[in-house]
Formats: sequence, structure tokens, C-alpha cells
Amino acid sequence: MNYWNTRLKNMAEYIPGEQPDNLDEFIKLNTNENPFPPSPAVLEALRKACTPDLRRYPNPTTMKVRELFAQQNGLSADNVFVGNGSDEIFTLLFRGFVDPEGRAGFPYPSYSLYYTLAEANGIAYEKIDLDENLDVNFAGFIKKKCNLAIVANPNNPTGKGVDVKEIRAFLGKFKGLLVVDEAYVDFYGETALPLVSEFGNLVVTRSLSKSYSLAGLRVGLAVAQPAVIRGFIKLKDSYNVDRLAEAGALAALADAKNFKYSTRMVRENKEFLEEKLAEIGFQIVPSKANFIFVKHPKVAAKSIYEGLKERKILVRWFNGPVQSEYVRISVGTMMEIRTLVKELAAMV
Ligand code: PMP
Repeated sequence: MNYWNTRLKNMAEYIPGEQPDNLDEFIKLNTNENPFPPSPAVLEALRKACTPDLRRYPNPTTMKVRELFAQQNGLSADNVFVGNGSDEIFTLLFRGFVDPEGRAGFPYPSYSLYYTLAEANGIAYEKIDLDENLDVNFAGFIKKKCNLAIVANPNNPTGKGVDVKEIRAFLGKFKGLLVVDEAYVDFYGETALPLVSEFGNLVVTRSLSKSYSLAGLRVGLAVAQPAVIRGFIKLKDSYNVDRLAEAGALAALADAKNFKYSTRMVRENKEFLEEKLAEIGFQIVPSKANFIFVKHPKVAAKSIYEGLKERKILVRWFNGPVQSEYVRISVGTMMEIRTLVKELAAMV
């Protein structure tokens, strides 16, 4: 006997990438974290925030972060919401932006947490298959009469980007709420932020987890017109962003120099990784992110994943149509990439 409701009993569980306790023993290329440390200014801000003031609740509006992000992007603070990671923003979307009889839609394959959170909140959804080039089928969201669509740009796990022109054209036709998940946009991508002033049915989400190396701090942002932002504020937990996260986020956003340096290093390493994997026969999906989606004509993706794990290198393999043919590899440091390539060369 348990006390779960029917929805909870029936829902599939989200399985995050492995986070081993003995991190030092692994080369960890499985969860798209940044291999470089956060800005020293962030670590200093966190230390400074460790004061007896921690006995006080944080600012419930996270206003300083909203103001800083708005100022840096030509927006106003009432266009910006700050969440406990962008994952919280998706939860809030399902919690309060779709009627019980409504329907969400997501590309497949994509970030599988969308499917889990929709289920957890009792929202029906459609998986809209990517086309044969692994591009998003936007017409599918209209055909399936979706009230909410989430498109990751670039997509995870493929790394493929969508042209903002295509997003704009879609917004001209779509009546529901479109969320463009830009968790990985900072590495190469073109942002949809300029479309927010024009379209009331657009939400753009950002994350400090990847390009700012702060996956452990849990800060994400949503940008939309004020009426939508007010919805997020009404729905959120009262103190959703803690004092340390607020202090760290402010310092991270303020350090443009470190951000530029770190994103450039990731790009350089990614291009090196692509070059080396192509040399040993891997087929690589063109990626606009800090990870690549690859397969090898001679060795099954699952064996590559398992073989690397035995050698203490973690990459990601997802079961399911299309995606099980590939492994997803996050960009690491140069040393990590060299070790990975050496091990892969011996396996293929
Ligand atoms: N969106 C996508 C497409 C992701 O892959 C991830 C990370 N797994 C997230 C959002 C989550 O970001 P955050 O750490 O801000 O919750």
C-alpha cells in the first residue's frame, strides 16, 4: 500500500545523468556541464554571502538579478523572471499555463524532462518527431493543436540549432505559448530574445548552468512580456532563489570577461573534439552547443557508452528510437578530450 495518486503511480521517472560521488576518478562528459570553473568573482561573492544574514529569507523577487539581466539585454525587469534552474521554469509552465484539457508539444528526441514534468502536472502532450535531418517539425505543433510548445535551441541531445527566422515565422502562425529553451545558446547560437517585444506568446529561457559553469548553483531565467512574467511570479514558491544563488548569479552576469573566455575555450575544444572524432570515422551531427551527438558505422552506440564507462569515462546514451543510435559527448578540457579520443580509437 502506498499513498501515491494515480498520476504519480503511472508516470515515467526522469533519469538524470550519473553524478558519481568519487568525481575525481572519472572523466565526466555526460551532463553537458562546463569543464572550466566558474568565475573567481562568483566564488568570492559566494564566500561573502556566507554571513549570519543567511538566517533571513532571500529577496522573494530576486530583483537585482532581474534588473541586471534586463539592463544587459535591453529589457526591463518586468520582462524577466529568475528560477531555481531553468528546470523550475518548465515546472511552473506546466503548473499554471495550460488548462487541464489543453495539450503541450515537444520535439522528439529532446530534453526528456519536459515529458516528465508535463506528466507530473497532469498535462497531456505530443512528441513531435524531428525530421530525417534531425530538424524540428514546427508545423506539427499546429497540426496537433498544442497550447504550449517547448523547443530547445540548440536542441538536446542533437545539438542542432534552429534559425531565429524560422521561430519568427512560426510565431506568426501559432496561437499557443512557445517556449524557446536557450540553455545552450551562449556557445554559438542566435537568440530569440529580440522577438519578445513583438510576440506576447513567446517565453525565452536561459540557464547559468552551462555557459557560466554554475550547474551546482541552480539559476535559470525566463524572458517574456510582463503579463506572462506575472504568471510565473504568482505560481512560484515564495523563496525560490536562495541568497547564495542570487549573490552568485549577480557576480556571474557581471563578469563578461570570464564568460567570453570560457565560452571561447569550450568552442575551441569542441572543434578539436569534432576534428579528432571525424579522423577515426565518427559521424557527427552539426552542433551549436557544448556537446556533440555522434555515431560510428562499425560499433553500436551502447557498446561505446559501456566500453567508455569501464574505462571511467562517462558519456550519455539514451534508449529509444533514433537516439539509441548515438552517444552524446559533452566537451571537456583538452586533457579529457585527448584521453577520450585515445580510448575511442582503440574501440572502433
Ligand atoms: N534545457 C535543456 C535543453 C537542458 O539540456 C538542460 C540541462 N540538462 C536544462 C534546460 C536544465 O537547465 P538548468 O540547469 O538551468 O535547470
